[in-house]
Amino acid sequence: MLRIVVGIKWVPNTTSVNIDPKTGTLIREGIPSVVNPHDLEAVEMALRLRDEYGGRVTAITMSPPSARAGLEHVLGMGVDDAVLVSDRAFAGADTLATSYVLAKVIERLGYDLIVFGQETIDSSTAHVGAQVASWLDIPYVYYVTHARLEGGRLIVRRSLENVRETYELELPALISVAMHTLHPRRVRLSHKLRAKLESPIETWTNRELGLEPDCIGLKGSPTALSKIEMIPKVPRKNEIFRGDPREAAKWLVDKLIEEGLLEV
Ligand SMILES: Cc1cc2nc3c(=O)[nH]c(=O)nc-3n(C[C@H](O)[C@H](O)[C@H](O)COP(=O)(O)OP(=O)(O)OC[C@H]3O[C@@H](n4cnc5c(N)ncnc54)[C@H](O)[C@@H]3O)c2cc1C
Repeated sequence: MLRIVVGIKWVPNTTSVNIDPKTGTLIREGIPSVVNPHDLEAVEMALRLRDEYGGRVTAITMSPPSARAGLEHVLGMGVDDAVLVSDRAFAGADTLATSYVLAKVIERLGYDLIVFGQETIDSSTAHVGAQVASWLDIPYVYYVTHARLEGGRLIVRRSLENVRETYELELPALISVAMHTLHPRRVRLSHKLRAKLESPIETWTNRELGLEPDCIGLKGSPTALSKIEMIPKVPRKNEIFRGDPREAAKWLVDKLIEEGLLEV
């Protein structure tokens, strides 16, 4: 049976984060949270593989308890079960400490394939996939657009700017899905009802995992964000010329000369 683990992160629903100018921290009040949109594509990839080859998909998230709603969402998409990894001891984690805990959770679950999103919309480091693969010492391919199984191996394709690469991976392995490549399926009421009846979400704290305090949370985090600043917005004139394309071209050239951006 193919055991697939998919990582999802519960993030503020905004790409334009506001920063408190005094404390330099993220203002989260009044911003609803969602499953990181790129992780829904990872869930879609995991579900397609399970639907095609059989097996089981488990979603995991390390987060405060409010992320339960995110796990319920992906259970509604058809994920089989989920683990909420939540403990004050994990708070303040950088990407290294986050990936360490996730790797230990995945190890405990058992796995053939791990599927992550490309990056999150709140921190966007794209570190976590590579770091988890590193902790587990397994192959990792990122920007994956297609995946299929053949003879017990995973064949994945990834697209870069000018080339398309195909990799053949031995399992277990980790892939992260290139963003904007898959359309995540909708939540189905029947899946949501099943999830409510069978309550397939487990919560794991560090009591279950027994990780060394020095390797998790703030203590296990060698990096710290020392300063965060908003980049001042560049004022725009927002001038639009409507009409004949020839006149528009001349108007644009005159404007560029006027602004000193073009010399003739
Ligand atoms: C205000 C602020 C300050 C921060 N300060 C620091 C700092 O000082 N040093 C530092 O290293 N980091 C810092 N971070 C980043 C923080 O550690 C990350 O939020 C966290 O480690 C995950 O990294 P990421 O969001 O960049 O994930 P990415 O690496 O972009 O995520 C890639 C994929 O990994 C999976 N994934 C990521 N996180 C989780 C999760 N929690 N549970 C399950 N799957 C997951 C998802 O599939 C995701 O698509 C800060 C973040 C914020 C918002």
